[in-house]
Amino acid sequence: MSATTVPPSDGMPDGLPDAPMVEARGLHKVFGHGADALHVLRGVDLEVPRGAVCVVLGPSGSGKSTLLRCFNELEEITAGSVHVDGERLGYREDAKGVLHRLHPTRIAAQRSRIGMVFQRFHLFGHQTALENVMEAPVQVRGLSRRAARERALELLDRVGLADRVDHYPVQLSGGQQQRVAIARALAMDPDLMLFDEPTSALDPELVGEVLAVMKDLAASGMTMVVVTHEIGFAREVADHVVFMDDGAIVEQGPPAQVLDSPSEPRLQEFLAHVL
Ligand code: ADP
Ligand code: MG
Repeated sequence: MSATTVPPSDGMPDGLPDAPMVEARGLHKVFGHGADALHVLRGVDLEVPRGAVCVVLGPSGSGKSTLLRCFNELEEITAGSVHVDGERLGYREDAKGVLHRLHPTRIAAQRSRIGMVFQRFHLFGHQTALENVMEAPVQVRGLSRRAARERALELLDRVGLADRVDHYPVQLSGGQQQRVAIARALAMDPDLMLFDEPTSALDPELVGEVLAVMKDLAASGMTMVVVTHEIGFAREVADHVVFMDDGAIVEQGPPAQVLDSPSEPRLQEFLAHVL
């Protein structure tokens, strides 16, 4: 047998070029047990191709944050599976098809490849913008302070904060703090970025500067899942729009289709409220 007949994918489950960056199959999440159980995600199937931007819409309580948290292993899923870059999150399947929970260090390694930006910025208040962005690469990756500093300065420049690197969070506007949070997530060189209502806590005049940074990031080829009510952003930047209600995806497709000719009455009603 010549070497060229060996299938290239043999023994290489990770990072297949044609695998979606995110793939959720039959995803369920239940909080609590017995009579108190709350079935929050009810069989979500979603694929986000590499380099694509997926915007998730839906009313409050529909499960959007929980979905993102399952993508980042902040929540352990109840049933189904999530693969990121071809690798199953949280579990390894043995030859008999039995699932084994991965070791916490492996789970931490998976999580470190996924950046997350929250509605509230969660910056370290006692650290400058620069120190916030340097923190994880130094602490988690063991990068030298010098290399981390260089990279952090680049990233802060990229989000338009080159002149604010030595400012503390209280000295920054909400929009600036959120841009630091984005730079901080990017400092770990993630394969995937998750945004959970990143502009919802901002004064209206500060929303645009954060969306502009996200738009740049999308243009650079980053795979992004974005929960937002910013319909203009969805229309302009998303490749795919998903509408969730009551723990399930009830409509999805290209932005023009989902936003301009929604077929689901619940989506029509939702859009009438946010537009
Ligand atoms: P959304 O982001 O769309 O507003 P969430 O995912 O935050 O929705 O919440 C969906 C439902 O799950 C809500 O009813 C919420 O109260 C519930 N929920 C979220 N997190 C938890 C938790 N840790 N424990 C129990 N219930 C939760
Ligand atoms: Mg939420």
